[in-house]
Formats: sequence, structure tokens, C-alpha cells
Amino acid sequence: MITSALQHRPESEDCFLYDADHLRLRLHTAKNDVAAVTVIFGDPYWMITGADGRSTFKYTTTKMVRIGEGETQDYWGVTLTAPYHRLQYQFVITGVDGAITLLGDRGLREDSEMMRQETANYFRVPYLHESDMVRTPDWVKQTVWYQIFPERFANGDTSNDPVGTKTWRPEDHPGREDFYGGDLQGVLDHLDDLQSLGVNGLYFCPIFAASSNHKYDTIDYLEIDPAFGDKALFARLVTAAHKRGMKVMLDAVFNHMGYESMQWQDVLEKGAQSRFADWFHINQFPVAPFNDPTKGEGEPQYETFAFESHMPKLNTDNPQVQDYLLTVAKYWIEEFDIDAWRLDVANEVDHGFWRRFYAAVKAIKPDFYVLGEVWHSSQPWLNGDQFSGVMNYAYTELLMDHFLTHKQTAKQMVARLTDQLMLYRDQVNQVMLNMLDSHDTARLLTLAGDNEALALQTLAFIFTQTGAPCIYYGTEMGMDGGNDPDDRRPMDWSKLGGQTWQAVAALIKLRRKYARTLGQGSTKLSVTKHGLIAVSRKGDHNVTAYFNTTGQPVSLNGEATLAQNYRDGQLGPNGFVIKAD
Ligand code: CA
Repeated sequence: MITSALQHRPESEDCFLYDADHLRLRLHTAKNDVAAVTVIFGDPYWMITGADGRSTFKYTTTKMVRIGEGETQDYWGVTLTAPYHRLQYQFVITGVDGAITLLGDRGLREDSEMMRQETANYFRVPYLHESDMVRTPDWVKQTVWYQIFPERFANGDTSNDPVGTKTWRPEDHPGREDFYGGDLQGVLDHLDDLQSLGVNGLYFCPIFAASSNHKYDTIDYLEIDPAFGDKALFARLVTAAHKRGMKVMLDAVFNHMGYESMQWQDVLEKGAQSRFADWFHINQFPVAPFNDPTKGEGEPQYETFAFESHMPKLNTDNPQVQDYLLTVAKYWIEEFDIDAWRLDVANEVDHGFWRRFYAAVKAIKPDFYVLGEVWHSSQPWLNGDQFSGVMNYAYTELLMDHFLTHKQTAKQMVARLTDQLMLYRDQVNQVMLNMLDSHDTARLLTLAGDNEALALQTLAFIFTQTGAPCIYYGTEMGMDGGNDPDDRRPMDWSKLGGQTWQAVAALIKLRRKYARTLGQGSTKLSVTKHGLIAVSRKGDHNVTAYFNTTGQPVSLNGEATLAQNYRDGQLGPNGFVIKAD
């Protein structure tokens, strides 16, 4: 047995309360190296005194199940209960070579009844406090998100169009500075269409006052951009969405501020004397003209998002800045009843601020959803005190590297996705945001080489995964587009109700019909001997799905609940079959 691969850490994603009564344990072992694992556990105070006066620990044994096979590791899992909220446990591990070892808090021990009575070597859960449990909002587990880039979704009010607004032509390749007049009235006008599509979560790119078309350069976090509408209109939009059972998520850009904000303008004007000088990370005055080091202009005078001089980075260590941003965060919840914040460039803002932020929003709305923009693995943020979930690029890019580009084999993909799922507690995986494209990437159809069947197959895959799927506006219309700004073309409303729209609507309908299983059921990924990717989800239903990425037809039996390229027992290239019972 490769004992160096044995890993377990209490109070982590390897040992967590899943709900008030259930504790889940995971153990890591080397791949294909371990034949069986048993956990021995009990209340640490449950000692039995024998006739000889000696006390012994009364333990229970339960077998663990191999819940996943990663790239270099196997994962074993079990769910335990603890009637008195306390637990001590250790693992009895049997290798495929027949070797047996105990693994506990103080390391490896030879298995014997005497060693099982060495209670010092047990991992300990001193007391299971429900208040320490990582809670994630249940509604997110039932949500299909729809991402709206407001400037390009629909123009419902031409009276607020910016000067120089271009004609709404979906075939345009928008320039960086172009305006097309999209606004919140346009969203309100199309809520019925979104309801027919079936989505039940609206994720808005920024809508606060800003000078650009994308609004990531906030001027005033407490005002709606006048080209998008006003607060009364936004209030009507939230109410109308809620009436349709749709949640509303806004985008908060707290890493940096816009160049034209009052605060930054004050710094430009008054330099070190500005009362906002400490709101930013300024290295030297004067701050303009900006030295861009990437252009060989020397050291920048202040820190920015990337090297964008018009996006000065906020100093979130400054309590004044913290208080200001928390005022913003609370305002839109208290006054407009929004349900979620998406946090832009969240990984570059300090953890201390996010802890204050999380406590503040949760105090107003206990089931509020906090979504961080993080492009890499995110354990430090996902322990129940900062974010509920993150934009799951680490997961979706891995699957796209197989489905869309074949940079990795099906087996590699399945192993690496399994590793990703094992980074987080189950309730956290369930509220990750799984999207294949966004305003920051080329569109799915373009990434799929304009192969619509392939794009839909990849979309179908994320609809069978743990984590809430998110559709970028226009995907349902079969829109394509390269990297931004080409991925931000005006919405093609002529395709409403068309073939692609129907295929996407069918996926959404299936996801929502089996929301409890697909949202919260167990997940097992594998590759069949004929090379199909198999997904098994178990909850109140069983959902099984097969995806053919082999390029050849593959035989497959049985009825499909939803399928593509599947006929006469043959699953064709780019095909999928989803069975639900
Ligand atoms: Ca408009």
C-alpha cells in the first residue's frame, strides 16, 4: 500500500456537516491501491467499564464507499450521525496487496484491538455546532441562471439611448466603445420570453452609473446608469422577476473604481491632500499621467485592475472604504430585495473584507447568495464565511478542454473533474456557477467551431453536473462571437422560438423537472468501455447520462428522456442521452 498517499484533515472538505444531523467524511488514497476502507467511530465519552474495572471505548464500524476516482487519487466517503454531537473516528485501510493499517490523528498504526483502544489516535470532532456548518442557499441548487449584458440584451426605451447609439444589428461586430441602447426596460419587456425559456435566475452584468458600455468602471454604486433606466424601473423589474419565481443577482465591482468616480477625481485634483487619497493604493503623486509599465513608461503611480489606468484599485484595508462598500452591498438588498451579489475580481480583494461583507448581507437575508469571480481553485473563500460559491471556470474549462478541443481524453477529464469536486464540501459544489461562456470569453458556439450539435452536447453536459448551470444571453438563439467585444453583439431576437431555442429550453425543462436530483444528488463520473462519458446522479430520482465524444457511433440501449443524435440503439458523434426515472 502506498501509505504516503493517505490523506484526511478534520474540519475541512474531508470532514464536514452536510446538514444538521449528517457528518460526511472523505479519505484520499492512491489510485487503485486500496481495496476497502472501514471507519471506526463513536462518542469519545462512551466508555464501557468491564467486570475487571477496565474501561473500553465502544465504537461502531461502517464501510466507506469509493465515491470518486481522480487523476492520482481515489476518494472514499461515508455519511455518519452523532447522537450526542461529538465524534472520534479513525480509518481501517486494506490495500489491494492485503496490507492493513489504521490511520488516525497521530498517524499510521498497526491494526489490533489494543490499538483501536488507543483513543489518542482518533481524529476528533469535539462538538458538532450547527452554527459552524457551511450553509448554502437551497434555491440556488434549483436555479438555472441566465446572464444578461444589459447594453446588448434589448432596447426597450429609445429615449435613454446614449449619443451615437448604433442600429440594433445582431450581425454587427461591436467595437469597444460602441453603444446599442440596451436597457432595463428591454429586460422587463422580455421577461415573459425568459420565463418561456425556463430560466429562474437573472444575473446582470453591472447596471450602476459608469461611462463604458460594460459598466465595470463604476462612477456611483448607488445609482442606476441613466442609459439603463432608474431606480423605480429597477424596482419594477425585481418585483416582476420575483413574481415569475426568478431570482435577481447583481454584479458588484469592489476591487476597483471608475476613473470618473467622485473619489478618484478628488485624488486627481487634490493629490495627497485628497480625503480619498487612502481609498486607493497610491505609491507616488502626482498620479497622472499614468505610467504604464507594460509600455515601458516606468513604475505606475497607483495600483489598478490589471494595468488599466482607468480602474484604480480600492484599498479595502481602509475601514472607510469597507464601510462605504458595505453600505452599497446592503442598500440594494434592503431597498430593492435583490437575492445575490456576484463579486468581480473577488480573489484580489482581502479575505477580511469579504468576511465583513458576508456577515452583513447574511444578516439581512439569510438565504442570500454570494458568488465570487475566481478562475482557479477556491478553497480559502468557500468555508462558509466569505462566498457561497464561485464562477466555476476551473471546472468548466476542464470539460471544454475535452468536449471542444480534445486537449485531454475523456478519462483524463473525468478524473480531473472528480478532483475538482473533491476540493469542496458537497453543499458548496451544489451552488457553484457552471457556465461555458460569458461576456469575458468567446461564445460557446464559436468555441465549438460553429458546430451546433457539439455546442449543445457540451451545454447538456453541464446541465447534468453538480452546480447551477448558467446560460449567456444569446446562446439560446444560436449566436456566435469571438473574444470580447465580439461576444457582446446585440441580441438576435429573430431566433426566438427557433430550433436552438427549443433545444436549450428542453434542457432547462429537464434540469428543473429533476432539480432535486441534479441539484443535490450524488455524482459519479466515469467512462464506459466503449468510450462514452457516463454521468450518474442519484437523489429522489436516478438520472443517468451518456455523451459520445469518440467521433464514431456507439451502441447504447434503452429509452431516452432527452437525447441528441440517438436513434436505433446508436448514439452518434456529438450525441447525448439523458435518462431519468
Ligand atoms: Ca435604450
